[in-house]
Amino acid sequence: MTRIDRAVATATKAHEGQTRLTGEPYIVHPIAVQKILEDWGMDEDTIIAGILHDTVEDTFLALSEIETAFGKDVAFLVEGVTKLSKARENMRDLSTYLPSTKDNLLKLLLATGQDIRVLIIKLADRLHNLRTITALPPGRQQKIARESLEVFAPLADRLQMSRVRAEFEDIGFRHIDPRRYEFLQNLTETRLKAADRKLNLAKVAVEQALEKEHMPFENSGRVKSMYSLHRKLAKHNQNINRVYDLIALRFVVKDVTSCYLALGVIHSLFTPMDGRIKDYISTPKQNGYQSLHTTVITPEKHIVEFQIRTQQMHEYAERGLAASFHYNEQKLSDAYLKGHVSQLPTHLLWIKELQEASAKLARGEQIDPKKLKLNLFSDKIFVYTPKGDIVDLPKGALPLDFAFRLHTEIGAKATGVKINGKIANLNTKLKQGDIVEILTSKNQTPKVGWFDKLFTSHARQKLRQQLARQQSPHKKPRKPRKKN
Ligand code: MN
Repeated sequence: MTRIDRAVATATKAHEGQTRLTGEPYIVHPIAVQKILEDWGMDEDTIIAGILHDTVEDTFLALSEIETAFGKDVAFLVEGVTKLSKARENMRDLSTYLPSTKDNLLKLLLATGQDIRVLIIKLADRLHNLRTITALPPGRQQKIARESLEVFAPLADRLQMSRVRAEFEDIGFRHIDPRRYEFLQNLTETRLKAADRKLNLAKVAVEQALEKEHMPFENSGRVKSMYSLHRKLAKHNQNINRVYDLIALRFVVKDVTSCYLALGVIHSLFTPMDGRIKDYISTPKQNGYQSLHTTVITPEKHIVEFQIRTQQMHEYAERGLAASFHYNEQKLSDAYLKGHVSQLPTHLLWIKELQEASAKLARGEQIDPKKLKLNLFSDKIFVYTPKGDIVDLPKGALPLDFAFRLHTEIGAKATGVKINGKIANLNTKLKQGDIVEILTSKNQTPKVGWFDKLFTSHARQKLRQQLARQQSPHKKPRKPRKKN
């Protein structure tokens, strides 16, 4: 009997006689959570803790028994998930719960943040509850749907689990605003039908060209989720003609070189649109996302977005942090469990900050949540480059955050900023829709005082690197660590 089989047997026995609101035996739920965690490629301890996640709270099973049977790590994870649900119990009342959801969630995160796998189990737990939401009374449905949009989708996003984020958003959105959801779904379908033949022509043309170049590939279409369409339409005055990535054609090729070759192949067939080539391979998005994007105009005057990436980038884009556990299962898990989270890629450093804050709390030290730069649930704003590229930043971001987001060099050489065409102070908070132009000079050097002019931890990190490099100019700049 494997450890997982033993865990299933233990949970089945513990939950015997309990039923879900759907009328099914309760064990259906922990098993579904197990399947989700397996699908995400999580390590064995996390899967076992997922199977046992409701036992301590809802059955006679004691934490000590779990520790004896499955070890300390599993017990720690189950305890973390149990703590999370206990803390939430005090917030059950809808009216008092919702206004401060984000604050409360931050407290919960701090209480359990020493092991991010607790949150991953919680996401799996919530995802299954959401998938079976129709079994709940309408009031609870609304609450769960709102929490999904306001808490769990941003959390999944922070863990770069975009497929999971999209599922939270879509089911949540469908329950909060069913009419709007249906409207957008019909709109998308109509446009898909209208575009189908032309899209297919473009797809086949690229396929044939890639085959001619002997470049193996896989492809898939990607239709934008209803919730992200909803948000994008809000940005474009509800004009769907300005949403170019409603449908994207995605090509997965064998390595990075092939990505650029494929981009060349596409541009030899179609005319690329100005300013819409995005190289997220050499400059990954803040959350670690990598791909090449290009929007082209076909001979039939049809606008098509292509996304090109390697298999590894694809996995990462879809599964995020969970994929890192999968790829480097041993390496990452070991480093992670020993607290060497500095080995995490830069865009996941917020996890380290969370862990350090949690550890302080556990030792009884005071922390000031306002000083944490986790930026976990701060709402995003969208600002534009003078060329019209959109950059999303957390609310509160300053011009230098924007500069470092565009490129480290732009941040390092910044001398000033124009906002909406007017010279502005570097302390000016950026607002939704601002057009931001960073002024630079090649003689500029980064200054320690700039930390006061930064809001995002990403930019702080970049500035720290720049300052360190300045102090030891004879040292060669460190090569960027290989991405997994
Ligand atoms: Mn559960």
